[in-house]
Amino acid sequence: MYLVCADLEGVFVPEVWINVAEKTGIPELRLTTRDISDYDVLMKQRLKILEEKGLKLKDIQDVIATIKPLDGAVEFINWIRETTQLIVVSDTFSQFAEPLMKQLGRPTLFCHNLVIDENNNIIDYKLRQKDPKKKVVQALQSLQYKVIAFGDSYNDVTMLQQANKGILFRPPQNVIEEFPQLPVTNNYTELKALLETHLC
Ligand SMILES: [Mg+2]
Repeated sequence: MYLVCADLEGVFVPEVWINVAEKTGIPELRLTTRDISDYDVLMKQRLKILEEKGLKLKDIQDVIATIKPLDGAVEFINWIRETTQLIVVSDTFSQFAEPLMKQLGRPTLFCHNLVIDENNNIIDYKLRQKDPKKKVVQALQSLQYKVIAFGDSYNDVTMLQQANKGILFRPPQNVIEEFPQLPVTNNYTELKALLETHLC
């Protein structure tokens, strides 16, 4: 039996940090996992910028509350969940994800946690484990499930490679070129067609 593991940002919702960069007027926050492959380097850079600019958790949550799912995402999620189980496997943080998951109908989410001080500053972050997306797929496979996974960028690649079937969804050109063995889909119709060959 197949389960589906899906990335969140760039797949079902827009990139959170790009929205934060635009709403706060801080262009340095635009960089995402699509640009920098080392997540630790990326997050440390983001936290340093937040500290320098005096932005607190609430400021970021206010921006996230304005983000809407991508067109067709809710319908696509509903289709998957009528067919099999969906687990959203994200490098976001539980404090950021809540308003987004509510709009998506609250599929299961595996992600990370931020460390917040008494003044609502984001002072650190706790990754759930090393290579978390790949580990989710391995764990499900140890339970005798087969996994179809899809995601859009660098932080998804080991999950896609570990999965029984891994699919890129609207990836940036650099990821397509670095991982030519992964099939590429550009919209939900194409992705659904590929999933259907395994799920239905
Ligand atoms: Mg993504």
